[in-house]
This record gives sequence, C-alpha cells and structure tokens, in this order.
Amino acid sequence: MGLSKTIWTNPTEMLRNVQPENPVLFFAPSVVQANARRFIDGFPGLVTYAVKSNPGEEMIENLAAAGVRGYDCASSFEIDLIRRLAPDAAIHYHNPVRSRTEIAHAVAKGVTSYSVDSKSELQKLIDLVPAEGTEISVRFKLPVAGAAYNFGAKFGATTELAVELLKMVAAAGFVPSITFHPGTQCTDPQAWASYIREAAVIARDAGITIARLNVGGGFPSHRLEAVQPELEAIFETIDQVATEAFGENRPMLVCEPGRAMCGDAFTLAARVKSIRDGQHVFLNDGVYGTLNELPQIGVIDRTQVISPEGVERTGKSQERIVFGPTCDSIDRLPGEMAFPADMEEGDYLIWHGMGSYSVVTNSRFNGFGELTMATVLSLKV
Ligand SMILES: *Cc1c(COP(=O)(O)O)cnc(C)c1O
Repeated sequence: MGLSKTIWTNPTEMLRNVQPENPVLFFAPSVVQANARRFIDGFPGLVTYAVKSNPGEEMIENLAAAGVRGYDCASSFEIDLIRRLAPDAAIHYHNPVRSRTEIAHAVAKGVTSYSVDSKSELQKLIDLVPAEGTEISVRFKLPVAGAAYNFGAKFGATTELAVELLKMVAAAGFVPSITFHPGTQCTDPQAWASYIREAAVIARDAGITIARLNVGGGFPSHRLEAVQPELEAIFETIDQVATEAFGENRPMLVCEPGRAMCGDAFTLAARVKSIRDGQHVFLNDGVYGTLNELPQIGVIDRTQVISPEGVERTGKSQERIVFGPTCDSIDRLPGEMAFPADMEEGDYLIWHGMGSYSVVTNSRFNGFGELTMATVLSLKV
C-alpha cells in the first residue's frame, strides 16, 4: 500500500493514498488486451486500430502485444509513432485529405494503403505514390442513422463518385478497395449492413472486383449503464451481409475500431472543486480537458462518487449542473447529471469508459489540464 506503487490495485487505492488535486486517468492493460482479443477472435477479417482515438504508447504497446497487426493513421506523427512502437505492423493512411509533403513522408515510411474520396486527392496519390502493390480504398458515405454523430459530414464520396473513383484507381494500377465509416459509437448493426450492400453495388457498377472492404470504426464502447455494446452481433451481421452482398467476389474484410478498443480501458477521477452554494458542481476537468467529447456525443452515466478516504457515496440521487474548471461559459457538461446527494467538495467523481478521445483532446486552456496517468490491475472502484 505504499506511495511508491506504480501499479495500483484499483482507482480507490491510489486516490485514498495520493489524494490527487489534478484529474487522473486510470489505465487497465488487461482491459485493452481483452478488447483486442474480442475483436481478433470475433471479427471476420483483419483488425486494425484507429490511432487517433488514443495514441498513448501504453495503448499501442498493449495492442501490439495482444496481436493487433494493423493501424489506421491520419498524420505523419501517427505514422512515425506506429513505425517506432510496432515496426512490422501494417499502416493504413486513412485520412482522405493529405498535403503532398505528408504523402511523401508516408511513401518514405513504406505505407502502402491509402484512402480517397475525391478526384483531386486521388491525382495527388497517382503523382506521388508508386502504384505497384499499393492499395487505394475509395471512401463513400450514405445518409444512415445509428451512430452518435454523422461522419459523412466531412469525408466520403457519393455512390456515383465512388464508382468513378474506383475505376480510376484500378486504371492507374493500384489495388482497388472500398472503405466507409458508419459514424462513431454506432450501436445499430444495420448501419454496417446498409454500407456493405451499397459497397457491393459500387463495385458491380464499376465492374471491379475489390481486394478488400474496410468496414471502418464506429464500434461502440460502454457509455450508458443500460446499454451494453453488442460487438458480436455487429460482427455477425457484417459477416452475413458481406457474403450475401458480394457472393463469390467477397473481399477480405478489415475493421478499424478506435473507441471500442480503448474506451472501457480507462476510468477518470475528477475532483469536486466546489459545490457552489450547494448547487452547481465545479470539477477540475471539463470540456477543454478529457470531457471534451460529451457535448457532442452525449454523457456517460457510468459514474460513482467516492470520498477522499475512498468511501463510496450512496445517497439518494440528485440532478445537478456540472461545470469544468475554466472561465469559459461553454465549459459545462450537457444537461444535468444525477449524483448522490451527499457528494461533497473534495470528493472524486469517477467516470468509467473514458479512454477514447479524452487524452488526445485534453488541452491546457486556462492553465488546467495537468493530467496524471495511473496503471491499475482493475478498474473496479
Ligand atoms: C476516427 C476513425 C476511426 C475510429 O472511429 P471510432 O468511432 O473511434 O471507432 C476509424 N477510421 C477512420 C477513418 C476514422 O477517421
């Protein structure tokens, strides 16, 4: 139980002993390894990890150790990170818009998988990337529901443009593939089904047998107590529909989960700085910190409150407005959140499922955002 521990038994043990003033993210390597195993065993194809969701070195090293052999990268920084930490892994450069300098960097690093959603970006790849043995996946979009927000707002070609792009990719001598992203935190397997059927139509209309179909990320993590992520149901739908839609031309499948790999492997402890006049809760973390995503995709209700002595508060639930520490009025969590009424200043508010889009979006705005990472054997408080 000493303070010198670098691996704690659980979050409570660390909080009780250290009583940290700054937010702490607790990381359980065993959960990342189990998540990776669930994908590798259950997904009917190659599992790659979307680095942007959590590029922490401890994430990548645990994924690599658990057998993840491919990484979806969006920038030169991410490509260099993976080359350093998982030198033999495949890199899929799936940000469909890149500068020429970035493309040259990827070529120099041996990247042989790219995605595109426009003619102008495809032309840049044709100019700069040797075609032989290089895969280009055409990214398309559909107006489908099911995800927490719409990924098609920025990237993705229409079906018609995708047909044209696929023909151009093949004509230029690249290996033609198709990709899509159904939108993040997508809980409806039918979103993947619609995309896979449309991908088959695109390939048929282009008259091209595609090598691979990358079904994107979007797999859900556990954010709401009452909604368990049903990954296996999604895997099964993907498998069935791929066979139905493509028949004997069924391509190899690839997925690129981010959130579903890292989300549940981290638990946040944010300290209650103040309960202003008994009403508003002010935390030491907020939307400029690791809670950045909540206003966009909704709150996580998997919370617990513990006292500085490590005792869980169990009072009747009471709804409160929650603010982050900065002086900006948008630094407020959406709606009102229910916490035990006996919550006090100095308590720790525990949020489970905080591993995705949290470390990476944490900023130092207003001088806050000093984040501690702590490794634990178990995330159970
Ligand atoms: C962000 C992203 C992902 C990961 O999305 P999640 O919702 O975190 O699974 C996968 N692929 C691409 C191309 C992305 O941009």
